[in-house]
Amino acid sequence: MQTIAAIATPQAEGGIAVIRVSGSEAVDIAAKVFVPASGRNIRKMKGYTACYGEICDGDKRLDDGVLLIYRAPHSYTGEDTAEISCHGGTFAAKRVLSACFSAGAAPAQAGEFTKRALLNGKMSLTQAEAVADIISAQNEQFLLCSRSQQEGALYRRISAVSEKLLSLVTLIQAWIDYPDEMEDEFDGKLEADKLRSISDELSALIASHGEGQLVKDGIPCAIVGRPNVGKSTLMNLLTGTERSIVTDIEGTTRDIVEETVNAGGVMLRLADCAGIRETDDVVESIGVERMIKKLGEAAVVIAVFDLSRPLSEDDERLMELLDGKRVVCIANKTDLEEKADAEILVKRFGSIVRVSAKDPDCAKTVADAVTAVSGLGSLDLNSGFIANERQRLCAEQAKAAVDEALGALESGMTLDAVGVMCENALDRLYELSGEQVSETVVDQVFRRFCVGK
Ligand code: GDP
Repeated sequence: MQTIAAIATPQAEGGIAVIRVSGSEAVDIAAKVFVPASGRNIRKMKGYTACYGEICDGDKRLDDGVLLIYRAPHSYTGEDTAEISCHGGTFAAKRVLSACFSAGAAPAQAGEFTKRALLNGKMSLTQAEAVADIISAQNEQFLLCSRSQQEGALYRRISAVSEKLLSLVTLIQAWIDYPDEMEDEFDGKLEADKLRSISDELSALIASHGEGQLVKDGIPCAIVGRPNVGKSTLMNLLTGTERSIVTDIEGTTRDIVEETVNAGGVMLRLADCAGIRETDDVVESIGVERMIKKLGEAAVVIAVFDLSRPLSEDDERLMELLDGKRVVCIANKTDLEEKADAEILVKRFGSIVRVSAKDPDCAKTVADAVTAVSGLGSLDLNSGFIANERQRLCAEQAKAAVDEALGALESGMTLDAVGVMCENALDRLYELSGEQVSETVVDQVFRRFCVGK
């Protein structure tokens, strides 16, 4: 396999840039482009050692920097690796890279370092996919989830299911091949129960995809309420900006203002919607229509009510629209005299969050309530989750095959047929974990990566 090189840091000006070289020639290539100030022999450097020196291309002295050596298999890729840190100018880094090419390295493809780590058994496919997720993480919760995936959380979860299925397949095979030597009678009901429990575990695994997406992309939240209850003020409080227009003229938020915020490590995708009320104003009624659409898309609805005014017909209409939704009921304007019957809200929503959107300290209270209602606050970050479409498809196909096997068993089909269906399910699980996966799939996974990772 060729020795490859790429710039591992972003292509932008910065303090330092790192050029990574990996493969059996990595140390030789480093010895050709790097001259240690101490005069030491790079070819004799042990793993995890570094030296300071000059980076050269032939007799041209390009820069000074630090060389770090890793020895196989104790490196990210599992191969000998050299990392050269130079000054972080885009031209300087490219020039050092081209010196590595002149010294014999080939340009690395996107994700090729991680692909080699996979091929050298340093990580599973799901762990490699988690590396891409760590790089793309935009919030703390997703970063922590992806980190635990990289440590093998999903791989362990899949393995637990595939081991159960494998022992079932082995047992079925034994009954087919050596029926006379089996100690117990074949108990179809017991085996069907095992398949049912595997199917349930796969359902939970598939459901984890939705949770994972919410953690990754943020919880879609619609802020709704009749005009002037304080939606835009609340939006501005949560985002810390003045993007929503706050006025006391009713119906000012005619369209939807959207913003993403990080609240206590969880990402919220907030949409401040037009006030709900009967209206003849064409522009405003389009806004209301869009608000109703947003309600449908929201995972959590932040319904705002104004405690300083009696609840109105528009408030009642809104309550009806919220049937079946996950709702955080915000009872706003607690700083003013209370004229609304808050008990109606408590009865309808179970609990209410009393705030004054003008008080900056309320932002955390609201964000905590949203996280709690979304169910993500209590999510076990270490349990492993389905992180992308490839994984979801494999899990769904595995479950379909398990359900098919269950149906076949219960309808009295031959053990041969049941066994084949279980084996199909097992193949899909091995594909999910990456233990049995085609080169095309591996290539597709690494296409998502950047060059240098
Ligand atoms: P929206 O139409 O629901 O978006 O309402 P706005 O956010 O534009 O607020 C309408 C009016 O209520 C503005 O004058 C705000 O300053 C005021 N307001 C919002 N929240 C509070 C609050 O908690 N206390 C008081 N006293 N006024 C508030």
